[in-house]
Amino acid sequence: MKEEIRSKYQAVIGLEVHAQMLTKSKAYSSDVNEFGATPNTNVSVVTLGHPGTLPKMNKRTIEFAIRMGIACESDITELQSFDRKNYFYPDLPKGYQITQDRTPICENGRVYIKDDNDEDKAIRITRIHMEEDAGKSIHDVDVHDTLVDLNRAGIPLIEIVSEPDLRSSHEAYNYLTEVRKILRYLEICDGNMEESSMRCDANISVMLKGSKEYGRRVEVKNMNSMRNVQKAIEFEINRHIELIEEGEIVAQETRSFDALNNSTISMRSKEAANDYRFFPEPDLLPLTVDQKQIDAIKAKMPALPRDLFIKYTQKLGLSEYDAYNITDNKDLALFYEEIIAQTKNHKAAANWLMGDIKSYLNHNGLEVTDFPISAKTIAEMISIIDEGKISSTVASQKVFPALLEDASKSPLKIAESMNLIQDSNEDSLQEYINEVIASNSAEVERYKNGEKQLTGFFMGQLMRVSKGKADPKAASQLMRKALDNL
Ligand code: ADP
Ligand code: MG
Repeated sequence: MKEEIRSKYQAVIGLEVHAQMLTKSKAYSSDVNEFGATPNTNVSVVTLGHPGTLPKMNKRTIEFAIRMGIACESDITELQSFDRKNYFYPDLPKGYQITQDRTPICENGRVYIKDDNDEDKAIRITRIHMEEDAGKSIHDVDVHDTLVDLNRAGIPLIEIVSEPDLRSSHEAYNYLTEVRKILRYLEICDGNMEESSMRCDANISVMLKGSKEYGRRVEVKNMNSMRNVQKAIEFEINRHIELIEEGEIVAQETRSFDALNNSTISMRSKEAANDYRFFPEPDLLPLTVDQKQIDAIKAKMPALPRDLFIKYTQKLGLSEYDAYNITDNKDLALFYEEIIAQTKNHKAAANWLMGDIKSYLNHNGLEVTDFPISAKTIAEMISIIDEGKISSTVASQKVFPALLEDASKSPLKIAESMNLIQDSNEDSLQEYINEVIASNSAEVERYKNGEKQLTGFFMGQLMRVSKGKADPKAASQLMRKALDNL
């Protein structure tokens, strides 16, 4: 599509995210909640909705939903009730889902993202409610039949619904990244879109720029990665603009993402939308959440990625780039926290983490939790560099690899036993300098004639005669002094 046409329009996007809660049992029964079990083994009569069985609310789900609500700065609803959403589907044995239609557990929240200009932007969260997953219909295992696995039926979900505040597929991607990060920091969902423990429905419309009224929205389902959400949104934006440019009307419908063709296909029209006949769930009592409960959950909340990001950039002076990369992964951030608890050189700690440590982990396909060297040892290494005992180059090239071999040793002991302690003694440095000056008289003459950039050359020579052991900081000061006094 021509840029001049595309740029006449503004995309408007709102996302609905379903997150499977990492509880041990299901939402309303004691069936085990696990991924990958033999099909139809975690299925009791409660999950099947047999007559005479009664659901029982899983307390953990409530706690998890409140954690998410607090993290998104939401209001927590005091009196909660449950509703039935009725529909027939082979993987929904009860014939209804228990959800919260009238009283979502959280309302009026916000999630902060970077917008297209890399500025902070708050995306409003309309509501977060608790519900249960349906089973899974499997179409691609048997050539003739659809198979049904009910292990997933009844797994607790929270649904996080955003306001239509997103303005591009890139913002939608950033929003999903942030939501997933929060879920993972809170340890309430593993955020794995490939295993569909986190799913996203994207609502998309376009309008002419400057318009006050949103266009007709389309909802797209079945994207199993964040990239695919972005692709689906891009495809829809273009499709809507083309329709409007041709004078046609965008049909309000639900579409499915086709990953093979990076396009979407119509599933059902909204006009013919299911009437779910919501009604209050008669088998579950309403429940109240009081401030004491909320405060107790709040007190146990882990640090959130945004709080750490703000701390790293505003208090510790890290670059946004470093802060973003460290907070991207909770375990990495926790390891960083452990290092900086033992050294004041926050920047060096970030450099070690993002440099040598991260490349070691990447190279060996390891997680930071598998990293053999302790935070304390890394902090010790930083301090002996800062004290001038070893250079950072020596630390990185000699001491770090030795620590990887035997993480129980101390960096100082290693440096001593490998004869790596640098010389910052003025007398011995002066001897090296004298030697360098004596054996490079031509360069000394040129330096005296104004070629100050030769300092680098002299320092190189000094490192050579000292066999790399001269403390470069102390030596370069002395060197300059010696040359300028000639
Ligand atoms: P439904 O049950 O139809 O999916 P929901 O209330 O669950 O309705 O979700 C509606 C979603 O659609 C929200 O995320 C909201 O932000 C989004 N939305 C509403 N209007 C528009 C619009 N004009 N363009 C894009 N997204 C929209
Ligand atoms: Mg929807």
